Amino acid sequence: MEHKRILIMGATGSIGRQTLDVIENYPDQLQVVGLAANSNWELLAQQAEQFQAEAAALADEEAARQLREAAPGLKVYGGDEDLEEIVRELNPDLVVAAISGLAGLPPIMTALEQRCDVALANKEPLVAAGQLVTTAASRAGVRLLPIDSEISAVFQCLQGEQIEDVEKVLLTASGGPFADYTKAQLSEVTAKQALDHPTWQMGPKVTIDSATLMNKGFEIFEMKWMFGLEFEQIEVVIHHQSIVHSLVQLRDGNLLAQLGQPDMRLPIQYALFYPERMSNQLARLNLADVGSLTFAAPDPEKFPCLRLAREAGRSGRSYPAVLNAADEVAVAWFLQDRIDFMDIPRLIEQALEEHEPFSVNNLTDVTTADQWTRDYLGQIAADRR
Ligand code: NDP
Ligand code: MG
Repeated sequence: MEHKRILIMGATGSIGRQTLDVIENYPDQLQVVGLAANSNWELLAQQAEQFQAEAAALADEEAARQLREAAPGLKVYGGDEDLEEIVRELNPDLVVAAISGLAGLPPIMTALEQRCDVALANKEPLVAAGQLVTTAASRAGVRLLPIDSEISAVFQCLQGEQIEDVEKVLLTASGGPFADYTKAQLSEVTAKQALDHPTWQMGPKVTIDSATLMNKGFEIFEMKWMFGLEFEQIEVVIHHQSIVHSLVQLRDGNLLAQLGQPDMRLPIQYALFYPERMSNQLARLNLADVGSLTFAAPDPEKFPCLRLAREAGRSGRSYPAVLNAADEVAVAWFLQDRIDFMDIPRLIEQALEEHEPFSVNNLTDVTTADQWTRDYLGQIAADRR
């Protein structure tokens, strides 16, 4: 069997590192040809050496310079546009998209144009530009494979099923660390507390998004675009144990679920080998140890992000890109202790209310909506001072 040639975007992050953990176990099937990140050149140098990568890219040019010095034998690309350049040069079989935020969108589009399959962890591009990404994938005739555990769950349940037979998808949410907090307690939450997620170890942005439930809002978009569903067909259910990763309800009333340990290496491995199943040594789920699984409806009062995401999705046009950008800005401010936890949905709602929508037909339109949001919120911050 030929090696599958893989390029990992966001190699130094939580998903990127776990992807390398999986790849390490299959040296005869998988080969890392390229690695990309933002600025962590030290880790990228180690990874490139360990996996004998052909090339690496860093968005930060100064970091790229340091990487060139540290790894003279490695072909190094440096600067924002070079994330696209490395995709073109390597022309891999599969691109793992694991950058965080909208920064991942241009290299994803390039990968699709190059007719590479894309294993997608990076959800923000599907929120802000779901139509563009999925149209590019179907035009190129390539696969978009989900890594996000909930989307992978539905993808697995749907193997052998017809999408027309889907009545709805039940998207499970751990509820985040503050599921049982009152509204008053929520406004006191600090960045440090929010970074302490009960079941998943993730990067800072997605951890805060999990605490506000915006992460679940974003996953509604992922479900919509990956499977061509309507927003109304996607229902969120709180499930603290993170064992059932999501469910599909079919038109005959049958409900299919995917269960597993809360371990991202499971969906990562499925995406890397799809449609094949490979043996592994990962811990197995012991249902008797788990004991009970609980489910509850989310509280819309405490977690307005879920409603904001749904409204932005239904309203369409440039609203989803504004939702995404406002969340990126608000989460960054929260992490810098500049705003309270409950200011996150407040600022997002304010941006959505002030926005004059326009139709989104290309990447420039996405950037325009993104920039409008950053300027608008920047102005609010300036007025506050
Ligand atoms: P991390 O913050 O851990 O990692 C982000 C990665 O992206 C790092 O490699 C970082 O490089 C790189 N990066 C950030 N900005 C840029 C940029 N402008 N250009 C190039 N590279 C950049 O994030 P996660 O791994 O947790 O999440 C990645 C994506 O996957 C997110 O979209 C998240 O929502 C999604 N996801 C994550 C899950 C998880 O369990 N972690 C689960 C499901 C989805 P550097 O290290 O140099 O800064
Ligand atoms: Mg998820």
